[in-house]
This record gives sequence, structure tokens and C-alpha cells, in this order.
Amino acid sequence: METTTHNPKSGPKPHNGQINVRSYPFNEENEYHLDMKIPWIKDLLKELEQDQMIDEDHAVSGSIEVKLSIQKKNTNTLKDHFILHGSVKAHYPCSCVKCLELTHESLENEFSCCFIDYELGNSPKFENSTYIDHGLDELELYTYDNGVINLKELIHENIYMVANPLPLHHIECKGLCPSCGVNLNLENCSHRPLKN
Ligand SMILES: [Zn+2]
Ligand SMILES: [Zn+2]
Repeated sequence: METTTHNPKSGPKPHNGQINVRSYPFNEENEYHLDMKIPWIKDLLKELEQDQMIDEDHAVSGSIEVKLSIQKKNTNTLKDHFILHGSVKAHYPCSCVKCLELTHESLENEFSCCFIDYELGNSPKFENSTYIDHGLDELELYTYDNGVINLKELIHENIYMVANPLPLHHIECKGLCPSCGVNLNLENCSHRPLKN
């Protein structure tokens, strides 16, 4: 896919992480390729980096890329609904949880979901459903409210589903000595034997 942020023949642009899909034509693919030039996408990366960095005000230095395809459909059961297929890829700096050395993590996730109207989603028929069968796919069920889909929330969720909560700069990182704080990858100390 080329690097345009939006396919001009398709529907409206997302704004602040939300997209108004009410006016989408039926059964047409609306494709989006979102990157760091978009402030709310950059915010997602910033959050990922800040989770593990000591410096709260650093400029982002990783990368993030999100691709989405959204299609409006209508059936008797689901009424007006939206099928969304998406992917997110990110690469970002973070600190090793054991020795605090700077390291990098990558993540990648793909997701498919179905957005139905908020009222319908909270009706007895769907209130306990988290997935629905749609053709051959099993899609995660979400709701749109007033014709608006919250993309930022969706992408956020799919980032944290796969983000490594305990990054290590090296699989055999020895960490810091709990008594004197020396970096045991670099030096030894008298507090415990340097093994393995
Ligand atoms: Zn380490
Ligand atoms: Zn020590």
C-alpha cells in the first residue's frame, strides 16, 4: 500500500482518533494508512515509549504504522454495521526491566471486528456477546455511538494485547545487584556470585 494517509475515493477522515462512519456508502472498502504524522497516532507511540522510559518529556524516536479497512454493511440481525480489519506495527525504545539499559521492542497485531449500534449492542440479544459469527469469520464485537467509531481506543487495546510488559535488553540480562546496585552485566561485586 502506498504512503498516503487516506484513500481519497473513500469515506471521511478520522479526527482525534474517532471517525464518523454514518455517511459511508454500503459495501465499499474504505482504506486508511495511518502513521506518526497524525497526532493521535503519535500519541499512541508516545504512550508506549513513556511506559518504560524514565524521561517523561522525551521526543518519540520509534515508529508506528496502522492500516485499516472499514466496510459498511446491513443485515436484519445486525442492522447497519461496520466490518473493520486492521493491523498495527510499532517499533520503540524502552528500558530493560532488569538493568535499565536502553533497548528496543517491536510489536505487531492484526484484528478483525464488527461495530454495531450502541443501542443494539446493549439490547438483550447482544449485551453478553463479545464475538459474532460473520460469514467465515469470527469477529470481535464493538459498538459505535451516534455513527462514530472510536479508532484510538480500538488500536490502543490491540497494542497492549501484544506489547511486551517485561522487555529485556538481552535474554540473559543479569540485572543490577539488589544490594549495591552495580550492573552485573558489566561488573562483579561481593554480594552474590556471578553465575551463568
Ligand atoms: Zn538488561
Ligand atoms: Zn553488590
